[in-house]
Amino acid sequence: MKKQQVTNIEVKKNNRNRVFRYICKHGTVSNPDIAYEIKMSLPTVTQITKELIRQGLVEETGELESTGGRRAKALSAAVNVKLAVGLDITKNHITLVLTNLTGEILKYVRIFLPYAHKEEYYLRVGEELESFLDEAGADRGKLLGVGISFPGIVDLDSKMLAYSHILGVEGIRFDSVSRYFPYPCYFLNDANAGAYAEGILAEDQERFFYLSLSNTVGGAIFSDKELVQGKSFRCGEVGHMTVIPDGKTCYCGKNGCLDAYCAAWQLSDAADGKLEKFFDLLEQKNQTAVQLWDEYTDYLAVAINNIHMVLDCHIILGGYVGSYIQPYMSGIWQKVSARNTFAETEQYLKPCRYQVGTAALGAAMNVMEIFIEQI
Ligand SMILES: [Zn+2]
Repeated sequence: MKKQQVTNIEVKKNNRNRVFRYICKHGTVSNPDIAYEIKMSLPTVTQITKELIRQGLVEETGELESTGGRRAKALSAAVNVKLAVGLDITKNHITLVLTNLTGEILKYVRIFLPYAHKEEYYLRVGEELESFLDEAGADRGKLLGVGISFPGIVDLDSKMLAYSHILGVEGIRFDSVSRYFPYPCYFLNDANAGAYAEGILAEDQERFFYLSLSNTVGGAIFSDKELVQGKSFRCGEVGHMTVIPDGKTCYCGKNGCLDAYCAAWQLSDAADGKLEKFFDLLEQKNQTAVQLWDEYTDYLAVAINNIHMVLDCHIILGGYVGSYIQPYMSGIWQKVSARNTFAETEQYLKPCRYQVGTAALGAAMNVMEIFIEQI
C-alpha cells in the first residue's frame, strides 16, 4: 500500500516537472497547448498549472489569440524567480555567470585571479561574487546557490576535489571551500560542467561526448540528461590518453598525453598568450599560425577518431578553442574522416553552442536542475 502511495507521488511530481519544463522551454503557452503537446489530460494540466501559479513559478500573462471558441489563458514561466551562479575556477582566472530558470546568461565576468588554496584567495573570490551580484542587481533571496567547477577530479562521494595537477592540489574537501560563501555550494569538474551546459539546454538531449579544449584538455559523456561520471569520477579524462608514445611531456608528468599537444595554450603561446589573436592570425593566413594549426588539428583528429571508435556518438568540440572552431570544422572533419575505418552517413562532429563561460554556466545549471527536479 505504501509503495503505491510513493509511486503516485512520484507520478504527480513527474507530471508537474514535465509541465513546468514545457512552459520554460516554450515561452508563452496555454493549458490546451500543454495538454496536446505532452499528451496529458486537460484537467490534470489545469490543476498542475494552478499549483505552479500558486508557487509563483508560473504567471498568467493575458490571453492568447482565439483559434475559435473561448480564448485560452496565456501562461509563462516566472523565469527570474530563481537564480543560480556558476563559478569556474582555473589556474589563472575565475569566471562568474548568473543564470535563471531557462539558462539565460544574465551576467558574465572573467577575472584574472591566480589560484591558491588559501584563505586570501577564497575571501577575494567571495568579494568578487558579492560585487558581481550587486552589479547584476540580483536578489539574494532568489539565489539557489553557487555551482563551482574545478579543473580536476571532483569526487562527489567523498565530497572533495580528489586532485588537480594543474592547480597543484589534492584532497581538498568541499566544505573547506564552501565555508567562504554564504550560499549553498555544488561542485563539478570543469569539462563535466561544460558538457552539462551543452546537454541540458539542448533541444534534443541525446548522448554525446564533450571535448573541452581549454588550457587543459578534458572531456565528459552526457547521456540521457545526465553526466556519466565513472567509477572514480574520471570518466572522459581524455587529456591524458596517449596520442604519441613517449612523446612530449605533459603537465601530469607522463609523456605523449593529448594535453601536451592540444591544450589551448599551444596556440595562444604563439600569439602573446591571446587565443583570439592566434585565430586572427590564422584567419589572415599567417604562415606560423597556419602551420601550428595544421599540427594541432593532426593530433586533434587522432583524439576525435579514437573517442568516436569507443563511444560511437556525437562529439562536441568545446572549451576555449571550441569557441573559435566553427570556421575550421570542415578541415578538421576531413582529417578525422581520413582516419576513420568506417564510412559515416552523417558528420558526428559539432562545434560548441556556448562560446563564453560554458563551464560556469553548466555549474549554475546544475544548481538550477536540482531545484527544478524537486518542483
Ligand atoms: Zn598527462
